[in-house]
This record gives sequence, structure tokens and C-alpha cells, in this order.
Amino acid sequence: MSNCIFCKIVAGDIPASKVYEDDHLLAFHDIAPKADTHLLVIPKAHIENLNDLTPAHSELMGHLLVTLPRIAGAQGLKGFRTITNTGVEGGQEVFHIHFHILGGADLPGF
Ligand code: 5GP
Ligand code: ZN
Repeated sequence: MSNCIFCKIVAGDIPASKVYEDDHLLAFHDIAPKADTHLLVIPKAHIENLNDLTPAHSELMGHLLVTLPRIAGAQGLKGFRTITNTGVEGGQEVFHIHFHILGGADLPGF
């Protein structure tokens, strides 16, 4: 997607503070952190949000879910919060599926 900011990060066209990368996933620091540690984990493939997933994405999304806590752990987080906003009504602002990892001191109650 040529106008997608996260696809541009995947392509290396705009910079990001990357903390993890493999063939299918990328994780980087959120540009406007809302916690001591605020990471975003994305599949490299452009998928808008959870509503666009199909069974064909099962392996990819399983890989993401299994890898996500390892990414958090590598940043020193023993516990963390994971958020995925879906659609405008869900507060989504960037329409490339992403999982927020929030952790560290002062994590607000939910
Ligand atoms: P959403 O509301 O879509 O779940 O969250 C989008 C997140 O992407 C926000 O927390 C926002 O700060 C982050 N973000 C938006 N643009 C950029 C960017 O260019 N680089 C990085 N690293 N994060 C971004
Ligand atoms: Zn994208």
C-alpha cells in the first residue's frame, strides 16, 4: 500500500526505531509513547485490521502472537498490555494491523 505509513517503515522509506525483525514481522517503538515502553508489532504484509483477517492468515497471525511476548521480554518486560484497535470506532488511526505492547511503570489501570 503506497500511502500506508507502516508499509513505508517496512520498506525502509521512513525511519523507525526497530527492536525486532524477521521475514514476516517487524516491531518498533511507537513514535508517541503512551507508556515507559510502547512498541508496535506488525506483519510486514499489509492487512488493515482484525476485520480483514481470513483463515489464510492463520499461520502468520499465530506466528505474530507467539513472537510478541518474546519481543516484549527482550525489552525487559515481564508483564505488559497488548492492545489492537480495530476500525475508526475502535480508535484505529493507522490502517495497517498492529499490536501495541505497553509496559513499564505507571501503566494505567484498565
Ligand atoms: P492506532 O490508534 O492506529 O491503534 O495506533 C497507531 C499508533 O501508531 C499510535 O500510537 C501512533 O503514535 C503510532 N504512529 C503513527 N505514526 C507513526 C510513525 O510514523 N512511526 C511510529 N513509530 N509510530 C507511529
Ligand atoms: Zn500497510
